[in-house]
Amino acid sequence: QAKRAAVHGVVLYQAGMMDRRADDAALGRDLEEAVESGQLRVLYQPMIDLESGQPLGAEALVRWHHPVRGIVGPLDFIPVAERTGAITGVGLFVLEQACRDVQAWPDHLYVSVNLSPRQLQDRTLVPDVLGVLRRTGLSPSRLVLEITESAIVDDRIAVPALETLRSKGIRIAIDDFGTGYSSLQYLSRLPVDVLKIDHSFVAELDGTRQGSAITEAVIRLAEILGLTTVAEGIERPAQADELRALGCQAGQGFLYAKPQPAADVTRFVGALLR
Ligand code: C2E
Ligand code: MG
Ligand code: MG
Ligand code: MG
Repeated sequence: QAKRAAVHGVVLYQAGMMDRRADDAALGRDLEEAVESGQLRVLYQPMIDLESGQPLGAEALVRWHHPVRGIVGPLDFIPVAERTGAITGVGLFVLEQACRDVQAWPDHLYVSVNLSPRQLQDRTLVPDVLGVLRRTGLSPSRLVLEITESAIVDDRIAVPALETLRSKGIRIAIDDFGTGYSSLQYLSRLPVDVLKIDHSFVAELDGTRQGSAITEAVIRLAEILGLTTVAEGIERPAQADELRALGCQAGQGFLYAKPQPAADVTRFVGALLR
């Protein structure tokens, strides 16, 4: 009886694996086409100076308007794009779109673009990024690239690439900081400017020392290393108040604005700047 169940379990497991591979491949092919046919849309979530309440820039967040599946969020297709390699085309599309869209906003605002691990291991990353800046005419000072700690799979490729990009004036942010591993060991060696405090830590801010322990440690660490901090996923005024009191410079979250089309950001920042 147990043996039959085990056998059955194995069969089910293998079938699941094949389904996933087939589904991945189909989605990967669809994605290549999605880039060509304009099914990808880039939304922007404003980032706010916690002290002044003024806008600083916005993060580019991609959405896939799939003809059959409807609107697909990045968590449902970026990992697949990573596995199939479609991420190269998707990533370049988002970067170029973001570099164009930011130019409709006031000059002092930047755009922050997510880079996936695979892009960071790609030897054409530096010429690709510099090529987009040249084509769009965007000043490198208006571009921030967000990477995750786990994206530094091979330091020998990623670190020199980041150093080169940074030497051109592009800023580098570590996204979801504190959720990866060996973050502290990496941090002193990495060419970075910004630490983004993951929403999971922001969610724990409840006015207690316990709740703010990690956030406070990250902000102190950033101060010592001369980095700025951006908190993500701010949903309540009390969280913003606590982050400000702890010395966090910037934040983003539903409290301020949801991810929205570039034209809506133009209106949003216009109202705040007025
Ligand atoms: P992320 O870079 O950490 O982006 C923040 C995510 O939190 C976004 O989800 C955003 O919509 C969401 N968020 C914003 N404010 C709040 C809030 O107040 N509360 C909560 N609970 N969530 C909030 P989204 O747009 O679904 O993106 C998910 C992830 O997908 C991103 O996480 C990023 O890692 C990845 N991603 C998005 N766009 C791209 C892209 O163009 N390229 C790559 N490589 N990854 C992308
Ligand atoms: Mg991000
Ligand atoms: Mg993040
Ligand atoms: Mg996050």
